[in-house]
Amino acid sequence: MIGIIGAMDMEVDGLKEQMSSVDIQTVSGMDFYQGLLCGVPCVVARCGVGKVNAAMCAQTMALQYQTSVIVNTGVAGGIGKGVRVGDVVISSGLVEHDFDLTDLGEEKGLVSGIGQVVIPATPVLTELAAEKAKETYGGAIHVGIIATGDQFIGSSEKLQEIKRSFDAMACEMEGGAIAHVCYLNDIDFVVIRAISDNADEKADITFDQFAPIAAKKSTDLMMQLIPAINAQRGSF
Ligand code: SAH
Repeated sequence: MIGIIGAMDMEVDGLKEQMSSVDIQTVSGMDFYQGLLCGVPCVVARCGVGKVNAAMCAQTMALQYQTSVIVNTGVAGGIGKGVRVGDVVISSGLVEHDFDLTDLGEEKGLVSGIGQVVIPATPVLTELAAEKAKETYGGAIHVGIIATGDQFIGSSEKLQEIKRSFDAMACEMEGGAIAHVCYLNDIDFVVIRAISDNADEKADITFDQFAPIAAKKSTDLMMQLIPAINAQRGSF
């Protein structure tokens, strides 16, 4: 079973509409749509914004649906060099930029318990997603670190700090939590995000204007990715 998580309705509605043989179950206030996408068994959920919601959703998929793969689809702020609105960023790894034990002498972003700053995405999934994105879009595709925290980033100062600390390409609010849950449950995962804004002083306006377009781009890519993941089963 492939689990697909988006934070907002606009990030998953397009997938739910294309699902067949749907069965809906509500767990902890979240609706889980189980059914077939491109003929492949999937479960799709809107988790809500932020790390706690995202972690709850991923953990429920692990326990209730025994997902072997989870993909987080959606939109993000572009912070890497040359990362523009409309581009696609595929995760090589995730960081929780607000995990901060530096006053105890730890490295910034070190995740307690896991003992790593970067949680690597499954390399085969990263490659597959990048390949499908290149086939689908004329625009730029970037592969790199995605930084997650419980903050909407809309200032040059904050975005520069995240960029400097983690060499991140994009910032968002769920991917790192999903990576964390997948890591602990031994689930393969990747995060795909289309850029809705540049996490700067204009981010609020840009986000409002471009998030729906970017969200659709990411769901369209998701539809290309599902059969590709299904075909590669067994190789990761
Ligand atoms: N309007 C929403 C809040 C959206 S927060 C509400 O009322 O609930 C922004 C969402 O898009 C998050 O899910 C996050 O993952 C992503 N995102 C896009 N741009 C971002 C940015 N600059 N900083 C952080 N998250 C961003």
